[in-house]
Amino acid sequence: NKFKEGLSKTRDSFADKINDLLSRYRKVDEEFFEELEEVLIQADVGVQTVLDLVDDLKMEAKRQKIEDSEALKPLIIEKFVELLQPSAENQELNVQDGSLTVILFVGVNGVGKTTTIGKMAHMFKQQGKKVLLAAGDTFRAGAIEQLEIWGERAGVDVIKHHAGSDPAAVVYDAIQAARKREIDVLLCDTAGRLQNKVNLMQELNKIYRVIQREIPEAPHETLLVLDATTGQNALSQAKTFNEATGISGIVLTKLDGTAKGGIVIAIRNELGIPVKYVGLGEKLDDLQPFDVEQYVYALFS
Ligand code: GDP
Repeated sequence: NKFKEGLSKTRDSFADKINDLLSRYRKVDEEFFEELEEVLIQADVGVQTVLDLVDDLKMEAKRQKIEDSEALKPLIIEKFVELLQPSAENQELNVQDGSLTVILFVGVNGVGKTTTIGKMAHMFKQQGKKVLLAAGDTFRAGAIEQLEIWGERAGVDVIKHHAGSDPAAVVYDAIQAARKREIDVLLCDTAGRLQNKVNLMQELNKIYRVIQREIPEAPHETLLVLDATTGQNALSQAKTFNEATGISGIVLTKLDGTAKGGIVIAIRNELGIPVKYVGLGEKLDDLQPFDVEQYVYALFS
């Protein structure tokens, strides 16, 4: 239900247009498919993805001898689910049972990284886990204080140094503290300096080295936080971060604030990185595991 509510803007523009299309065209013909392409591209599904999808639909419609547009609808839904079904990777977070899990958050400023960390801390606490935060964005003014506010909201502690200090040292201290306190999940914030890719890479590499020296199989997840309202921009951020550091999953925020929720499909199809969680609002419990079928059905129903 949260999904349905959060996706209402996308549904309004996207599913309504598709439904309108299906009722205007009784028969599926070339013109119908062209209009369908248009609607999908406008929803930020991504041009290449749309062309592939529609080609596939045309072939399948022909094979199944579907001529009636309403009969095509279940096929469209099926294709969407298929597109989004992650191939090999797991949709679930890689959380260790009985030992410390380290999750690194990366992403540019303003995408909702701090908010997502707060929400995820809350989620893990609800699951009965002990959570600690590391204030690894020592670069941006106010980032540490902002993380502390979210820490308070979620009821979890924050390990911090002063602004301008070495983020790798903060993460090192946080790991030591996590061990002492028998923490289950450590969530690490990082600075999002995309303007300087070399700096970003160096900083993230150093954090990685420190983490791996302590726990060879960590970080267990590197989550890239992306803002759904930035559309194709989010896609290019994902490419840059993926080159700078390996990304194991994406958290797509502000899906409630966009009519272009089709971006999920473009990310999945063009990058092959699973969208693991989505942000559907500004509150502590507005984070949801991304569920392909729920997403697609929320769009079409
Ligand atoms: P950061 O700079 O990446 O740490 O971004 P913040 O966490 O400070 O978030 C930036 C703004 O986006 C804030 O106003 C948040 O309330 C808002 N925000 C974050 N996630 C969501 C979301 O899922 N939905 C909506 N509507 N707003 C969000």
